[in-house]
Amino acid sequence: MTKPVHRVAPHVDIPIRQDSLRAHNLVLTFRQIVAAQDTPISRSELSTATGLTRPTISRIVDDLLAAELIIEAGPARSGSSGRPRVGLSLARTGPAGLGLDIRADVLSACVVDLTGAVRHLDFVPYDGTDPATVLPRLAAMADRAIEAAAAEHLTVVGATMAAPGPVQDNSIVRFAPTLGWRDVDAGAALSESVSSGSAALPILVGNDARLAALGEWYASGQAMRNFVCVSGEFDIGAGLLLNGAQLGGWAGELGHVMVRSDGPSCACGAVGCLQCYAGLTAILAAANHDGRDGGGSPAVAIDTLVSAGDPRILDALDEAATALGIAVAGLVNLVSVDTVLLGGSYSLLASWLVDGINRELRRRVLSANWAPIEVRPAPLGPDAAVIGAALSAVDRVREDPNGWLARVQSR
Ligand SMILES: [Zn+2]
Repeated sequence: MTKPVHRVAPHVDIPIRQDSLRAHNLVLTFRQIVAAQDTPISRSELSTATGLTRPTISRIVDDLLAAELIIEAGPARSGSSGRPRVGLSLARTGPAGLGLDIRADVLSACVVDLTGAVRHLDFVPYDGTDPATVLPRLAAMADRAIEAAAAEHLTVVGATMAAPGPVQDNSIVRFAPTLGWRDVDAGAALSESVSSGSAALPILVGNDARLAALGEWYASGQAMRNFVCVSGEFDIGAGLLLNGAQLGGWAGELGHVMVRSDGPSCACGAVGCLQCYAGLTAILAAANHDGRDGGGSPAVAIDTLVSAGDPRILDALDEAATALGIAVAGLVNLVSVDTVLLGGSYSLLASWLVDGINRELRRRVLSANWAPIEVRPAPLGPDAAVIGAALSAVDRVREDPNGWLARVQSR
């Protein structure tokens, strides 16, 4: 993550080897440049922020410049003295992260650079959800994305695939009810067929709702501290950030929270799950529609029916909003969040969902009178998961650039 790094005194009790001390100081310095985001930071500011001497900072900055991790952003004015200074910023060439995502209507691939800017975004329609056909297509998209990145002087250093369900060991999709996947080692399958130049490419798998929340958090400038991003895509998932830290583990399967004990059977094996009322295909089914008019996108099909004034789809959306409000109210009663982002395809349908969700939050959240909760569409919408996946891949360099430095120096 990119939380500002505060001055840390070196540990004096245990002897630190010279090379590990250098690596530690490099991380400390680099994270300050990352945390400064779009504002260039000078060598003297780095020295003040880290407590390292000016000569040490100069050596580290030279290494970071040589490795193309940072650039000199040109002369700027600083402080009361008004003396010119040279600002340092993250480079837009060098290491990059790759994201892959499986949506209801398309497969997507995305490359982001060190600054978090999206440099490549690709969509491919697909038929059928068999991992034996989906994963090779994703691998082909990954190869194309790596090639496109190379043309812009970017080297993909890691990839993350977003999966609609719980994931174990950053690799195995244990259960994706709406895809029909069980125990699919997507990470291993993709690692076998994707490479970035001569280096092995680490490919991880993460939960799509959690990665979408990460993408939205970056898009907000990391200003939000306590929020939930409820993503409606294949499956309904929730990514939670509390006190600026993401909730990990198996959490986030909001789609399989029960909203009615006498409800219909869910693909997960339980009954009355939120998914049965607010899943995109469930909304269409409640309106007696199969969604074929949406060109493969259930959200587009719903939007088309709303535009045509179909009263059944409006009733189905109202029922979906009520079910979402009940499930989200339960979540907000347990953990304190001040913002509910409607992510994924829900962002496209937010106009028909927000009022119903707010109605249930007012009825059910005990603290609602004193701690208002804002419900709004998420800015990145359906692209959030793939962008968040790519960001999580490049975050490994943002956290610790020593691996990249060693790679550059060994060339
Ligand atoms: Zn379920």
